[in-house]
Amino acid sequence: MANANNELHKKVEELLPAVCALSKVEHEGPDVVIYLKNIAEFYKDENLIRKIAGTLRKRVLIRSDPSALTTPEKALDKIKAIVPAEAGVTDISFFPQFCEVAIDSLKPGLVIGKGGSTLKEIIFQTGWAPKILRTPTMPSNTVSGIRKSMLKEADNRKKFLTNLGRVISTPPTAKADWVKVTALGGFHEVGRMCILVQTPNDKILIDCGVNPETNEGPKAFPYLSSMGITLDQLNAVVITHAHLDHCGFVPYLYKYGYEGPVYCTPPTRDLMVLLQFDYIKVLSKGDTPSPYEEKDVRKMLDHVVVRDYEDVTDITPEIKLTFHNAGHILGSSMVHFHIGEGLHNLVYTGDLKYGFTKLFDPANAAFPRSETIFMESTYGGRNDIQPVRQEAEKKLMEAIMKTIERKGKALIPVFAVGRSQEVMLVLEEYAQTHPDFNVPVYIDGMILEASAIHTAYPEFLRQNVQRRVLSNNSPFESKIFEPVKVKRQEIVDGDPCVILAPSGMLSGGPSLEYLKLLAEGEKNSLIFVGYQSALSLGRKLQHGAKEVPLHGEGGKLQSVKVNMEIQTVEGFSGHSDRSQLLAFAKNLKPRPERIFTLHGDEGKCDDLARTINKMLHIETRAPMNLDAIRLK
Ligand SMILES: [Zn+2]
Ligand SMILES: [Zn+2]
Repeated sequence: MANANNELHKKVEELLPAVCALSKVEHEGPDVVIYLKNIAEFYKDENLIRKIAGTLRKRVLIRSDPSALTTPEKALDKIKAIVPAEAGVTDISFFPQFCEVAIDSLKPGLVIGKGGSTLKEIIFQTGWAPKILRTPTMPSNTVSGIRKSMLKEADNRKKFLTNLGRVISTPPTAKADWVKVTALGGFHEVGRMCILVQTPNDKILIDCGVNPETNEGPKAFPYLSSMGITLDQLNAVVITHAHLDHCGFVPYLYKYGYEGPVYCTPPTRDLMVLLQFDYIKVLSKGDTPSPYEEKDVRKMLDHVVVRDYEDVTDITPEIKLTFHNAGHILGSSMVHFHIGEGLHNLVYTGDLKYGFTKLFDPANAAFPRSETIFMESTYGGRNDIQPVRQEAEKKLMEAIMKTIERKGKALIPVFAVGRSQEVMLVLEEYAQTHPDFNVPVYIDGMILEASAIHTAYPEFLRQNVQRRVLSNNSPFESKIFEPVKVKRQEIVDGDPCVILAPSGMLSGGPSLEYLKLLAEGEKNSLIFVGYQSALSLGRKLQHGAKEVPLHGEGGKLQSVKVNMEIQTVEGFSGHSDRSQLLAFAKNLKPRPERIFTLHGDEGKCDDLARTINKMLHIETRAPMNLDAIRLK
């Protein structure tokens, strides 16, 4: 161990001009941190950082030796003097454990300065390495809570990352010579997604979700007990995106002994925490106990390591992880694993949108190498063709206007994260071009908070939305939207309106409350814009259920008559429809040797696998939960 670090130290020493006065080199999680006594000298050569990172093949962080730091009080004064007022700095916090200062601001570009000039000035004058964070344009308790917790837990995080760095940089005694994948959940179903990737040296989970549409334990959670290993033997957990069917079970791992890292993108971390806290809250109102508590979510948060798209990261001595844009929700990613030195490359798409949305660029389809692809099949069935977006938007607005004209209320159940923001953009655009559209659009539940998180990460949004957020014209803050501050009954008793409320499949949350209040009124309408999974109440209503049992006041089950008009408007999905899935498979670069399908109800996984096989003449299959597949 000591040897490995000595070697690293020597390598860095050789690359650095002696005048930088190298004091220490250490691993910190997947990164290498270089401490210098004379950091100003380092920045004289602009190519130095690239040269070192290229040679070490790691992300490299440059920091001052603690002895070269000014006191936080002095540094604070200097930073305030250096950063222009227009940058809108909202918070400055010091992390002595990391020799870093976090600067939160509304305009990070101005804290960085032209070519990084302002940043450098901060480093030269204070010694502290600035970490630039964007303040959301709408207040977000999640974002501020997570940033506070990072500060509070900095000691623990430093210990955790140093230890993790040691593990990742210690080569195994024998090289991996096989790769195996076990299907632990989400195969031939939508929900509880979970995949175990195993080599002789590593055990990694990709996604670890719940099925929020059922309360039956055996169907709700992944088959972790079949792994044949204990949770503390896992090396890493990698999360594609924040929907609960992909991340809802992660805190459970920490409750029962896992202490390793969770890798995800920065927005996924924030949205994941928001949705997990909400999951606990929703369950606490019913009769099923939550599989974990809030403290387990916090423990998970202390172990999250965030990575941006396209960053290549060593997550074990033999596995490199890269996230690629999946186009599905904010921060959603596909996972690329490069295993061994060329032993095997696998891609797992997570949920993917290979088509137009107002919020995101379409999913990436090119990878450096990929022999095996695991792809989602939500709309992989032979009839799952979605109308084009323009038609979908027209149909949605017609459904809404018809309801308004007959003095009804239009309830649109949506996922708090994803569909709600997409539908908000459609409504906002319509209102801009139709001044006669003057009914309130109520935003209930977590939609507001989720939208606020979007404004903290504009670089993950499509360019024109990004531009609007950056120029103080965020569509999420349009005045047509009214966050619900009154009792729901008042809205139901009031004038015609549109209501956007989670959950998207009516499994709980405000949308279910509104359903109870609106269901009997014939003038009202229920408009589905997102996927309704096989076990959901939404699916039952789509299939024409005219009476449904729902928990009333005091938790008593009562039968509710459904007289409201029920409509489904397709075309807003954050999932690819069948033709988009097929186009994705066809356009994959390079062409994979095999494709496995998953994340689909009923026969959809089989359907998609069969069609891709006919189209590309490569091996395809739709594995079952608990199947183990040897890839190499
Ligand atoms: Zn999803
Ligand atoms: Zn999903």
